[in-house]
This record gives sequence, structure tokens and C-alpha cells, in this order.
Amino acid sequence: MRPPLLYPLFAGIENLNGIGEKTAKLVRNLTGDKIVDLLWHLPSSIIDRRYSPRLANARIGSIVTVKIRVLEHIEPKLKKLPYKIVCTDGSEEITLSFFHAYPETLKRNLPEGSERVISGKLESFNGSLQMSHPDYVGRPEEMDRIKTVEAVYPLTGGITNKMINKYIRQALARVPKMPEWLDEHYRQAEGLPAFNEALAAVHNPQSDADILPSAPARRRLAYDEMLANQLALALVREKVKKQQGREIRGNGLLRKKILEKLPFELTESQEKVLKEIFADQASPYRMLRLLQGDVGSGKTIVALMSMLNAVECGTQAAIMAPTEILAKQHLETMQPLCEEIGIRAELLTGRIKGKARARILEDLEAGKIDILIGTHALFVEAVTFKDLACVVVDEQHRFGVHQRLALSDKGNKPDILVMTATPIPRTLVLTAYGDMEYSKIDQPPKGRKPVDTRVLPISKLQDVAAALKRKIEQGCRAYWVCPLVEESEKVDLAAAVERFDTLRKIFGGEVGLVHGKMKEKEKDAVMERFKAGELKVLVATTVIEVGVNVPEATVMVIEHAERFGLAQLHQLRGRIKRGFQASTCILLYAYPLSETSRERLNIMRETEDGFLIAEKDLELRGGGEILGTRQSGFCEFRIADMNEHKHLLYTANKDAQMIVAQDEKLSTPRGEAPVSYTHLTLRILLYLFERDEAVKTYQQ
Ligand code: ADP
Ligand code: MG
Repeated sequence: MRPPLLYPLFAGIENLNGIGEKTAKLVRNLTGDKIVDLLWHLPSSIIDRRYSPRLANARIGSIVTVKIRVLEHIEPKLKKLPYKIVCTDGSEEITLSFFHAYPETLKRNLPEGSERVISGKLESFNGSLQMSHPDYVGRPEEMDRIKTVEAVYPLTGGITNKMINKYIRQALARVPKMPEWLDEHYRQAEGLPAFNEALAAVHNPQSDADILPSAPARRRLAYDEMLANQLALALVREKVKKQQGREIRGNGLLRKKILEKLPFELTESQEKVLKEIFADQASPYRMLRLLQGDVGSGKTIVALMSMLNAVECGTQAAIMAPTEILAKQHLETMQPLCEEIGIRAELLTGRIKGKARARILEDLEAGKIDILIGTHALFVEAVTFKDLACVVVDEQHRFGVHQRLALSDKGNKPDILVMTATPIPRTLVLTAYGDMEYSKIDQPPKGRKPVDTRVLPISKLQDVAAALKRKIEQGCRAYWVCPLVEESEKVDLAAAVERFDTLRKIFGGEVGLVHGKMKEKEKDAVMERFKAGELKVLVATTVIEVGVNVPEATVMVIEHAERFGLAQLHQLRGRIKRGFQASTCILLYAYPLSETSRERLNIMRETEDGFLIAEKDLELRGGGEILGTRQSGFCEFRIADMNEHKHLLYTANKDAQMIVAQDEKLSTPRGEAPVSYTHLTLRILLYLFERDEAVKTYQQ
């Protein structure tokens, strides 16, 4: 249960003053739906209103806050001209100008002869001082209130800085006094303020330096966030690891047979990784291992080998894919191999229904199925195995701590192997997986031809289409990728549908279209036709990213390549790297091209090394954006910055390990006697940053 201390922060933003239904909607999109979300919305710059010179010698162009006396109102002769108010500070006159003003309001707020404080940008017009639309107009006694440094927040249409400021001030007022969860030694050594102080400071920056990630207050909050993240992961890992597993040590016969059937030898890298996995399986503890390998590096056979190890012991194994298409694909590769060596692999997805489903479930429970291939969704349901000893999770970044926890409770404490297709830099491995052991396939199978990657402006589209036509006539197949972004951003993007129509004029009936809004069934049908060669060009939004395997497809055109992240481009390009034929990837870009985008495209042209690309991606984009979305399961950080706070992450990781080693139930950290089932301060931290799934599992 959430500590009551935090209740005020976890109320909805609509509870704040001055937020109506319409505003609430906008704020929700900007920051989140809870009051606590406002706290993590940090200023991106400041406006310094402390400059308060005599007007006669003030710097033009700067923000000034000055006391003035109103001399005269000058109403415009034409509606479109500004309403003017002449004022003086005694040293010089200044004209305030207002477009589309309500004279009544101005006369009320700035009556002739009155003294006022104004704050805004000082300009010079025809040699005289001017200020158009002062940011603040107040009474003389309000000078001190106005003459401050103002935090400037990232905004969205319909929300002004004043509004968000007002909401954030209210949120801050609700923050309870937090107990200290950091080690006092560490806190002092790093010069980190206490949590409440830090929070107040980040929202009241006094200089540009306070906005930087290196500011002590920001580092403090970043550290807290990372500690919460690392602690949650460490708890999950500990939970799995502490459990007695089983010693899976097959006789190797099935594996030997498979290797004899394969048309290739395993690479050294695959051998090495398998050794690590087999050792885990043989140990009496549960395996929880991450297998990293680039697209096409040959993870499937590695997965199959570890499952066969379990089958050799008379137990069952399962592999879960993120989508139906991928599950089917695993079936297509694995089932024939399994048949040849006399074991049974079956597919179970949400679409298999009725008798067929009942039969599979029955056989599974009876132990007649050795390997079950399915989607993630499957494992949420009641699927009963006779004796499940090995689970492979083909992750593709769609799988959170949450589901991993659910999975760890499934079956008879099976070993778990998590596979990911995108190489992930070390820092991100840490944030997404904590200290999960990991193996890397860092060498592609021999004989792979490099992809010929070209970067061209979109103006060359006709040439590209013509060249593609020649390739198709030679028997190639091609993907044509258009980024279709959700709703609002649709406008200026080459919508896939539109491109489909243009290409149809060139390629006729040999072009197909798949996009995210299609029904699964329709999508599959088109994919099937592309696979079968009826379609030669497949226009697609990024759906193909999830990994269809069509070895004949050797050309890929990516439109608006500048809008994709590096990792995403790499992933896409991997789709045409599977064959041993030469392949071509055309990256079409449109202007304006930012420096970062240009660099990204260059990297794509220069290298195919996924690990290198992943590191570059992190450098160029920062953690927040890597792999495209927050939902990717990486970089769930609101405050911490992957590049700037890297070293803090490593400390947080060690700190979390230490805490968990002391007592994985968080009952006795830091020398305190056991106070409760779960130590309160760290529990507050986990709940505050919404990393509380880990706590919940202990309470079950
Ligand atoms: P991924 O890591 O993307 O899942 P796959 O396991 O699908 O990659 O392998 C990609 C292709 O490479 C498959 O056609 C597979 O048969 C082949 N392959 C795997 N290992 C080797 C190897 N050691 N030598 C040659 N080809 C291999
Ligand atoms: Mg795969």
C-alpha cells in the first residue's frame, strides 16, 4: 500500500485551484495526471527580473523591472495600431504599447498619475524607450514579488508559463516533509541537498547554472529517481535468484542431432553464449539472463538449444514473442527442426480457438508438447504445463518489470532467458534490467554481405523508384517504410497510404500496404502475400520493425529517415540483412535537417555495428528518446539524464545492491532495527517514483 504520507501527491491534478476540465486535459498531456507529475516537470530556463536600472542608462534588449509613474494614455486612431501609455521613471520616458487592448482595463490598471512597477523587455523604437505588453504590472509595494528570477517551463498550446507556474507552486505546497533515504555520508560527500530542499530549489532556479543537470538539486532528484529504479530491479532480481531452481543438465543428444541438421556451424559467439546459458541452467538457482544480439545475429538457434536442454531432461520449454507474426515465425523455423529430431513444438496464440485450442491445452498439461510457442499475452492466461523448466522471452522492448514479475511466478520456477534484438548500451541495460546477467552475441554469422546504405534527399524519389523498378524486374523484393506518426503529427508526413497510391502507379498490383491501423488479420494477409512473392513492394509503417523474416527482401527504402532514431533505423535495416545476397538500404531525408539528424544518417552509412550505433544513439539523443518512445521500457526517467548523470546511475546501482543484500525485504537497511515488514523510507522512495511493483510482490 502506498504510504499515507504520499496521498496528497497522488491525487489528480484536477484537485488544484484554477484547473478546469479543459486545462486539466492539456496539463495531463504535458506532465501527467497526478499532482506528483507536476513536481517532475522541471524548468528549462529562467527569466531574470532582478535587473532594475534607471531607464536613462538601462541596457536595451534586457528584461527590466522598474518603478514608473503613468503620464498619459494615447488611444490609437486606427484599431490595428497599438494603444500607448507614456510613463517615466524620473530619468527618462518610456512608452508602453498594447495591441488589441481593452482601453477600460488599461485605464483601470494603469491610471494616469499613478505609480506602478512594470517588468518586461526593454526596447528602443525611433530613439525612444518602449515596452510592448509588459509581463507584469503591479503596485509599488509589489516590487519585491516581481523583481525575482522566474522559472520558465516547457509548455504546450493553451498552457502559459504563468499557469503552469501556478499549478506547480500548489503542487510544491502539498509536498510533505520527506524522511532522508540517502546515506548521509554519500549525501554530504556529493554535496546533495535534502529531498525537500532539492525540490524547492529546482523549481526556483536563481541562475542559468541551476538549470543544468549538474546543479546539486537536480543531481539529488536524479539520484533519487535512479535509486528507485535500481532498487526495484534489484528486488525483482533478488526475488527470482533466491528461489530454488532446478538443475537442468540434459544429455545433449537432442542438441547434437539439431546441430547435425543445421546447414551451418555455430559461430564462436553463439558457442560462448550457449556455454553461459547452459551453466546457468545447470546451477541449482533460477536462471534470469538477458541475451543481447543484433538482428540476424542468430539468437533463435541459441534459444532453441537452451530449450532443448530442458527437453532433454524430460521437461517442457516455452518461447514468448511480442506479436502473433513473430510467434508464427518462430514456429516456422523451429517446428520443422523439432519434427526432424522427434519432439513436438506447437503454436498457441489468442487466435487459436475452440477445439484446436482445447487440444493444445490438454496436450500441454499432459506433457505431450515439448516446446510451446506463443505470445506474451498467453502467459497472463491460465495455461498449465506439466512441467515447465525453461522460458525464453523474445522481448523487443515491449515488456516491462511488471510482466517480468508476473512471469517469474509462472510454472515450476522455470529458468528465464530474455532476448532482445537491439543492442543496448551498458547504461541502458542497467536502467532496464538492473544487474540481470547478460550474454552478448557480438559477431554476425560468417559470409554476411554488408548492406549498401545510401543517403539521399527526398527530391530524388523518382530516381529511386525507377531504380527500384529495375531491381524488381531482376527478382528483388523491397520494403518501403513511411513513418506514420500518431494523430497530430500526421500532417506533413508522407502518409503511407498516399505513398502506396503513388507507387501503385509505377508498380501496379505488385505493391501492398500494411499499417498500424489495420486489423491483425488483414495485416497478416498482406505480409503473407509479400512473403510468397505475389507482392514485390511492401509499403509499411514501422510495423515491420517487429521482425518479419523475408530473406528475398533485399531492398529497403526509408522515407523521412531523419525522423527515426538510430536504433530504429538500425532495426529496420536489419530486416534486409538476413540473406547472403547483397542488399541496399536507401535513406531518404527531407529538409530541414538538424545537425543531429545529419550525424545520425552518416553513422548509418558508416557502420552496421549495432553496439556502436546504440552508443552513438545514446550520445546524440540522450536516454529519454532512445528507441523512440518511453513505452519502450527504457529510460523511464523524468529527471535523470542518461548522459549527464551516468556516474550517478552506477552509484545508485551499487547502493541498491547493498541495500538489497542487507535485507531484500527492506526491513533493516542502514543499521536500523527492523521497524516494519518493509522499511518505510525506501518504500516511500519507491512509491514516490512509482517503482512500487517490486514492493507489491513482497506483500503477496
Ligand atoms: P535473430 O538474432 O535476429 O533472431 P536469427 O536467429 O533469425 O537472428 O538468424 C538469422 C539468420 O541467420 C537465420 O536465417 C539463421 O538460420 C541464420 N544463422 C544463425 N546462426 C548462423 C550461423 N552460425 N551461421 C550461419 N547462419 C546462421
Ligand atoms: Mg529473432
